[in-house]
Amino acid sequence: MQLVIGLGGNRGDVARAFSRALDDLARGLRVLARSGVWRSAPQGPPQPDYLNAAVLVETDRHPAELLALCQRLETAAGRDRTREERWGPRTLDLDLLLAPGLVIESIVLTLPHPRLDERRFALAPAAEAAPGWRHPRLHRTLPELAARPAILVQRCERIGPFPTAPAR
Ligand code: ATP
Ligand code: CA
Ligand code: CA
Repeated sequence: MQLVIGLGGNRGDVARAFSRALDDLARGLRVLARSGVWRSAPQGPPQPDYLNAAVLVETDRHPAELLALCQRLETAAGRDRTREERWGPRTLDLDLLLAPGLVIESIVLTLPHPRLDERRFALAPAAEAAPGWRHPRLHRTLPELAARPAILVQRCERIGPFPTAPAR
């Protein structure tokens, strides 16, 4: 199964958190594509700008297992959910954004991500990682969804390639 994972963060060295997360993901699954890194206006309470990116992965694991892996990587990046406010600042957020033709509504996991289609910071990187993919409920491609006027008003700009760090 192929799936796009969205990355975000606005506390600490986010570029480094992204490159570590990519290294860790690449140990357990195939990373087929990665977006550039984008700087985005925060949504939620006042807080610093976010960095966002997306990666296209292929895995035999169930998406719920992949979500659990992502949550372990968030914790490894210093994220502590028990001390967070909703949509408040965080070191690393990994969301499962979509997989071709896959719709899941369970207690722990919703696919496509329920807010993917209204967020430029998720759509723009996802469109770079998987330009041909269609949203499984809306049946439009990611670049089409990212180019809607209501999305383009959201401040979000590409600032460079996906971050890579020197070996640890
Ligand atoms: P948002 O969901 O609006 O992006 P958030 O990323 O800040 O907000 P979190 O606190 O990171 O929200 O996650 C809340 C819960 O969302 C997680 O415990 C997880 O079980 C659930 N969840 C449901 N669907 C998904 C998905 N597609 N990707 C990631 N988490 C999901
Ligand atoms: Ca999120
Ligand atoms: Ca999340």
